[in-house]
Amino acid sequence: MVDRESDTYSCECAMFEHMGILCRHALKVMVHVGVCRIPSHYILKRWSRDARDVLPDHLKCYQKDSD
Ligand SMILES: [Zn+2]
Repeated sequence: MVDRESDTYSCECAMFEHMGILCRHALKVMVHVGVCRIPSHYILKRWSRDARDVLPDHLKCYQKDSD
């Protein structure tokens, strides 16, 4: 299902809902309809560089920018 107004793409495999990653089906549809950039609401914080600030306390020593 595609809703261009809200930039929403949903697939019956529900990979985004389960894993937080867009499935190949949704990506192919985006290519087909001419989307040049993945909508920002599909880039979850856990897959970005900003995810480092949400590490649990016992893993914070592995942050590259930690003291
Ligand atoms: Zn899918």
